Amino acid sequence: MVSETFTVKTNRSTEIVDITDKVDEIIRKSGIDEGICLILIPHATAALIMNECEPNLESDFLKFFEKFVPKGDYAHNRIDDNAEAHMKSAFFGQSVCLPIKNSELVRGTWQEILLCEFDGPRERRVIVTCK
Ligand code: ZN
Repeated sequence: MVSETFTVKTNRSTEIVDITDKVDEIIRKSGIDEGICLILIPHATAALIMNECEPNLESDFLKFFEKFVPKGDYAHNRIDDNAEAHMKSAFFGQSVCLPIKNSELVRGTWQEILLCEFDGPRERRVIVTCK
């Protein structure tokens, strides 16, 4: 089993970062030919999704996320003012699990692994575990 962690520094309050190349590199170096890969971010105000990485789509997604959980008078905002980020993170999830075949992730052409920042800028950890 291989488990590696890398960090992603986000620059805006909300943004989408393509982490596919970094995950691919870990799998290549792992020497695992066939298996399974779990990608996890240990955070409650960000998410991992799989989709196309394209700038117009990024802005569409960010608009959608805002409509999905609009700013509001949430109780948690009295503590640290990021309830919306928690709810988006919980709904979209913090992990992705994919098969590995021929030392590559099995995924569609337009399925990049995207880290969604909902409460940035921050430094986010990504844990990649393959077997
Ligand atoms: Zn919070």
